[in-house]
Amino acid sequence: MIEQESYLECRCGSCRITLSDPTMRSRTECFCFDCRQRGLISASRRPENALPEEVANFERGVDLFYFTNALIVDHESEELLEFSKLTADGFNTTAMSSCCGTLMCGTHPMYDGNTISVNADSCRVTTSSKIPVQAVVFACDAPQEQASDIAQRSEVPVFFDVYNELKHPVLQAFVGAVTAPIPDEAKARATTNFETLCAAKPLTISNDFFEESRARLAKQAS
Ligand SMILES: [Zn+2]
Ligand SMILES: [Zn+2]
Repeated sequence: MIEQESYLECRCGSCRITLSDPTMRSRTECFCFDCRQRGLISASRRPENALPEEVANFERGVDLFYFTNALIVDHESEELLEFSKLTADGFNTTAMSSCCGTLMCGTHPMYDGNTISVNADSCRVTTSSKIPVQAVVFACDAPQEQASDIAQRSEVPVFFDVYNELKHPVLQAFVGAVTAPIPDEAKARATTNFETLCAAKPLTISNDFFEESRARLAKQAS
């Protein structure tokens, strides 16, 4: 059986990150201000990168996919990766493509180097391993009216205060999935990982769009 190649591709097609392990580890829908801020930074690079309308209006959170941090990246694509954090002491590090400002992937210390997160509203993801959203997270950052709508209609658990609800079985499963060790086979096939790619480049700290991402101007008249 031929396994279909799984990869992350920027919106203009110049930058590609091949996933050594195609298995999607988890999937969440995230309302956090930081995801929104990164989305607005990406949108500032190219009008086509604007947040999807439902995300801009807080009707849904950002669609986050999680994959094993075992990657295959050629020289041309590596050259196009830019690394940044929103603040010097921020947890997330983000890889963006310089060609078109696509949010390619990111990492968080909680993953222990085993996982990357991918904003699938920005990055084009090709994989045969798609799973449904497991949880809605950081609903606390949506405006109150939208947050209660989300909590009512969601078919999966909705978490407002994620860090204080980590004992919930769904969040336990999430933590288990993102901290799971990298399978040997995936490690053997990989040529690099997020941290190695990041270490070879300068790290930019940019808190652009901080105010805008926290403005909660939902349902703006268009
Ligand atoms: Zn591109
Ligand atoms: Zn988020």
